[in-house]
Amino acid sequence: MRIILIGPPGAGKGTQAALLHSELGVPHISTGVLFRQHVDGQTPLGRQAGRYLDTGDLVPDRITTEMVAQRLAEPDARQGFLLDGFPRTLPQARALSELLAADDHRLDAAVEYTVPDEVLTERLLSRARTDDTPETIRNRQQVYRTQTAPLLRFYADILLTVDAAGPAADIAEKTLGLLRPRG
Ligand code: AMP
Repeated sequence: MRIILIGPPGAGKGTQAALLHSELGVPHISTGVLFRQHVDGQTPLGRQAGRYLDTGDLVPDRITTEMVAQRLAEPDARQGFLLDGFPRTLPQARALSELLAADDHRLDAAVEYTVPDEVLTERLLSRARTDDTPETIRNRQQVYRTQTAPLLRFYADILLTVDAAGPAADIAEKTLGLLRPRG
């Protein structure tokens, strides 16, 4: 299956992807994790991306899409994937559609996780990631509303919305229940 996860920062996309990918038998590909690996490894890409991660702004589409295209070309992703944190903009979504269409593939589902704002901030502040300061959190929430939320309409015909306020295992079960009929 080819699936993307959409949701505001703190919605639990990474936690869900980690729970779901083995059930679904596809790799979990997180652009946030990939970027942080590049930053930690001080690669040229990491040097370009670092300042965006520090402020909570999005890394430019061209850089991000190129990194994802390379990752999706690896053998383990040829049969399917669970994309966590990509696409986050309409140009990224269009680029992904084109990339998949070139191989006669398409997405099976876009899963949206919804959580009340106050739960989101609480979760982020308890995570202790270096880019989880109150200012970057506010910025990432704003970036989500303006740049990523429009994807919900773009993916309207494959969108599955899951209330993500409860325990992680329950949310994973709900997600699998919605995905199975599409598998
Ligand atoms: P995440 O771990 O998904 O919260 O991502 C952490 C940071 O990585 C974001 O705040 C962005 O700076 C960057 N990032 C992750 N995914 C993307 C993307 N699809 N497009 C642009 N920037 C991204």
